[in-house]
Amino acid sequence: MPKEKKSSKKTKASKIKHWAFKPKSAWEQFTKNERLAAEAYAEKYKRFLGHAKTERECVVWIEKELKFQGFKPLEDCQQLKSGQRVYKNIKGRALAVAVIGKNLDAWRLVGAHVDSPRLDLKPNPLFEDSSLALLQTHYYGGIKKYHWVNLPLSLHAVVHTRQGVKQFVIGEKIGEPQFLIPDMPPHLAREQMDKQARKVVEGENMRVLVANRPFLEGEETEKVKAAVLEYLHREYGMVERDLLSADVSFVPAAKPVDVGFDRALVAAYGQDDRACAFGVLEAVLGLQAPRGVAVGLFVDKEEIGSDGDTGAQSQMLENFAAEILRKLGVGLTVGEVLEKAAAISADVTEALNPNFKEISDARNCSVLGNGISVEKYGGGGGKYDTQEASGEFMSGLVSLLDEEKIPWQTGELGRLDLGGGGTIAKFFSRYGMDAIDAGPPLLSMHSPQEISSKADLYAAFRCYAVFLKS
Ligand code: MN
Ligand code: MN
Repeated sequence: MPKEKKSSKKTKASKIKHWAFKPKSAWEQFTKNERLAAEAYAEKYKRFLGHAKTERECVVWIEKELKFQGFKPLEDCQQLKSGQRVYKNIKGRALAVAVIGKNLDAWRLVGAHVDSPRLDLKPNPLFEDSSLALLQTHYYGGIKKYHWVNLPLSLHAVVHTRQGVKQFVIGEKIGEPQFLIPDMPPHLAREQMDKQARKVVEGENMRVLVANRPFLEGEETEKVKAAVLEYLHREYGMVERDLLSADVSFVPAAKPVDVGFDRALVAAYGQDDRACAFGVLEAVLGLQAPRGVAVGLFVDKEEIGSDGDTGAQSQMLENFAAEILRKLGVGLTVGEVLEKAAAISADVTEALNPNFKEISDARNCSVLGNGISVEKYGGGGGKYDTQEASGEFMSGLVSLLDEEKIPWQTGELGRLDLGGGGTIAKFFSRYGMDAIDAGPPLLSMHSPQEISSKADLYAAFRCYAVFLKS
C-alpha cells in the first residue's frame, strides 16, 4: 500500500509539467530540417521585402509568383471546377487568390495587408528654399515622425504624364542617389529637446531634400526648382502638373539585414504586414488539394483604417466570392459561404521589448522566437475596436497547430490602457464567419526597421498553410 501511494504521487508530480502551459523557443521545437527550412525561407523573404516596398510592388511580386506557378486570372476563366487555382488583381493595389478544393461550401480565408506606413507627397509638393529644392510630404499611417529624419529614403513613383504612365524607383539600387529629411543639430536643439515627442518633428517639417544645384541656363528666379523640373522632364517626360495627381512615396532605402551573432532575426522596413503577406503567398503557392475553397487576400489601406476601394472594408471579398460561385455553377450564395467560412487575419503584433518592458504585460505578451502569435482579440483597453474569436474557434486552431507541431504563442498587444491597434479580423467577422488574428511578433513595429524572428516567420507560414488546407 505505502509503495503504491508513493508511486501515484510521483506520477501526479511528473504530470504537472504537462498540465502547465510553458512557453518554449520555436528553435527548440523545430527539427533540424525545420531549422534549415526556416533559414532558407528567410532568405527568400528578405528578397521579397527588398523588392516590394509599396502595395503596388507587393501586388506585382505576388502576381508574378502566382503566374509562374500556373495560377490563372479569374477573368480569363469562363467556368471553374475543383482543382483550379485563380486570382484577381484588384487595381494593382490588392489581390485575391483561390485554390478550389472539393467541398465548395467550406471556405478558408487568410488575409494580410500589403500597405505599410510611409511618406506620400502633398498634392503640390515641389518648392525651393535656402538654395535647396524640397518635396513636401504627408505621412501615411501611424509613425513616430522623429524616426524619419536623417534617414536615407528611396522614392517610388507612379506618374501619369501626357506621354503615358511612368513608373520609377530611385534610391534602391547600389550607386543610386537617395533622399533625406534634415533634422537640426544638437548644438541648437535646446528648445527641440524640451518638446513632447510628437512635436519634436512635426508633419509640416517632413520635407525631403531633392536637389541643390541650380539650373544654369534661363532666367528663372527659383533655379534649383527649375533644375528639378528640367530633370523630371528630361528623364520621365513629366511636368509639374503631373506631380499633383501622382502616387509618389518615400520609404526607407535600407535593405533587409540579419541581426545578431546568430543571424536569428531580420531587420527591415515594411514587415508589418509583409511578414504575413509573404507567408500567405508562400502558403498558397504550396497548397495541394485543400479540403474546401482556400482564399488568400492581400489588402491595401489597412494602416489608415481599411477604407477605400482596395481596403478590407470594400466589397472586394464579396465580389471575388460571387464571381467564383457563379463560375463554379453551384447553387450557393456569397452570404452562405462567407457565413460558414473561417478566417485568419494574418497580421503582426508587438513583441516583448527588454528596453521597454513597461508597455507590455510580460505574462500576456508574445516574445520573439516562440512561434506565431495567435491572438483571440486585438483592439485596446476594454476590447474596443476589435472582434473576439470564440473559444471553440481558437481552441480548434491551436489544436491543429499542436497536431502539426507548429510553434505558437499568444498574448495581447501591450499593457491595458496604453493604446492599442486593430486588424482586418473585425471586417471578416462582419460576414458572420469565425475570425482570429495570427502573425509573427515584431519589435519596433511601424519604425523604419522592424525586427522579426526567422523562427516566427516560418511558423506563421506553416500555420497559414495548414489552415488553408483544413
Ligand atoms: Mn498590420
Ligand atoms: Mn500596422
